[in-house]
Amino acid sequence: MYRTHTCGELRISDKGKSVTLSGWIQRSRNLGGMTFIDLRDRYGLTQLVFNMDADAVLCNEARRLGREFVIEAEGKVAERSNKNPKMPTGDIEIQVSKFRVLNAAETPPFTIEDESDGGDELRMKYRYLDLRRNPLKNNLLLRHRMAFETRSYFNSQHFIEVETPVLIKSTPEGARDFVVPSRVNPGQFYALPQSPQTFKQLLMVAGYDRYMQIVKCFRDEGLRADRQPEFTQIDCEMSFVHQDDILAMFEGMVKQLFRAIKGIEFDKPFPRISYTEAMEKYGNDKPDIRFGMEFVEITDRVKGKGFSVLDASSYTGCIVAPGCSEYTRKQLDELTEFVKKPQIGAKGLIYIRISADGSVKSSMDKFYTPDELAGIAAATGATAGDLVLMLAGDRTETQKALSELRLEMGNRLGLRQKDEFRPLWVLNFPLLEWDAETKRFYAMHHPFTSPKAEDLHYLDSDPARVRANAYDCVINGVEVGGGSIRIHEEQLQKKMFQVLGFTDEEAERQFGFLMRAFRYGAPPHGGIAFGFDRLVSLFAGEDSIRDVIAFPKNNAGRDVMADCPGEISEEQLKELSIRVKKS
Ligand code: ASP
Repeated sequence: MYRTHTCGELRISDKGKSVTLSGWIQRSRNLGGMTFIDLRDRYGLTQLVFNMDADAVLCNEARRLGREFVIEAEGKVAERSNKNPKMPTGDIEIQVSKFRVLNAAETPPFTIEDESDGGDELRMKYRYLDLRRNPLKNNLLLRHRMAFETRSYFNSQHFIEVETPVLIKSTPEGARDFVVPSRVNPGQFYALPQSPQTFKQLLMVAGYDRYMQIVKCFRDEGLRADRQPEFTQIDCEMSFVHQDDILAMFEGMVKQLFRAIKGIEFDKPFPRISYTEAMEKYGNDKPDIRFGMEFVEITDRVKGKGFSVLDASSYTGCIVAPGCSEYTRKQLDELTEFVKKPQIGAKGLIYIRISADGSVKSSMDKFYTPDELAGIAAATGATAGDLVLMLAGDRTETQKALSELRLEMGNRLGLRQKDEFRPLWVLNFPLLEWDAETKRFYAMHHPFTSPKAEDLHYLDSDPARVRANAYDCVINGVEVGGGSIRIHEEQLQKKMFQVLGFTDEEAERQFGFLMRAFRYGAPPHGGIAFGFDRLVSLFAGEDSIRDVIAFPKNNAGRDVMADCPGEISEEQLKELSIRVKKS
């Protein structure tokens, strides 16, 4: 071994010991007759000291060492005269008697400190250097501990981890597939799994009634911020269970992670709300319930007073911003600008101020008497000192915009603290989603999700009305997991494919293998998958999942470190029977 101890290990109780440390030079300082070097490894930092008086040759050699050189140093543990209480090793230093350079280093392109001077792209290009920094290192350690806890929880619940293939037949999860050409089957392609969905269902048919896997999934989606083309799921499936059994099992997992990793105890069951209620109260199927500000609908109450905007709207809704009655003109203008941004899409913002003395002022007081305004304000639940913010228009669009405004107000009022966690379940999602462009229904979750038995009869007459046995786990406005009770009967699965617009032949070609399996004794089953990267980033307090992935892609889906994707040789193309169209 190149070391007797790590750089994070030695304490005052080790005083006098002869030790050898190896690591990277974080920083060195020359102070008169002394040279100090902070030596770093994964475990921490230890100060090395060289003394001109004691050994001028060695000290001069030490002065030639640069940042990030890898060295091995031998010496004695000594008590520091100038202790650093911020460092775990801050009471001691190593009086070096001998060292050797294991490898020299070029000056790194950015500082490898907690706060780096490197921009995003540069740090991505030199990811291995960025990973030396504490913030990323701590994230990867956290990720490891969370994976370990997850496996330990499921192991204690008799789940087994089974690996499923990566080269597969396409499984729809609502995104585009990444495809891999097959050399030995010219003109044919594998898909990379958007999730192991069909395999985990087949494992249930095979009798492995509790399956889990921490698994890579691949989705070729529009590259929105904070999406990665490959990401990791905690993927699970269970047999002979009802929805409540599944919620209890996976709520147990989330609670265990919070307990073990963050020391947070949730003694009550997570709240559960229906999709419909989530949309009506928060305009969002992943509501952030760290704060209230629930929507109040006043569509009918405000009609008939000559304000054409409200008369014509199918939805008028508002939120009450507590204590904001004295918002300035400028603040209100900012909010108006905010809701009018194209991605939010509102036409304008209406407000009612209820001043501390109870008097009411509004941007729509042309149309309503003071009494009427006070009546509207009272209907929203606002009291003295509050500000009512109102949007109107088409129901769904307005609720979406109001949701954004609510979140913005939550931010402005400091109601979305990163160290407060409020999980909940959202239940009873619609089974299907109408797509106006392609004029067909899509599965809101995926085509293997079972409809609610009591809604089955709408499947032909009014498909949009059918609710699914589907559920999402949401924490702080982030969907961390989603799943469903599956269809386990061939006939119903066939019917589902029909509703989704598949011909019988198409369904057979794509999913024949699954429907065939259902003929051989498929147990009732259901499951869920958690977005592992997202869960870790939430625990880490990071905004981006990139910060908890060792080697992520950039926003254009590129690995800027290895410069990939890239072209392949003519030779390889020929072997794959592929011709690339030059654009
Ligand atoms: N396969 C689903 C997904 O990736 C999760 C599930 O239904 O279990 O979202």
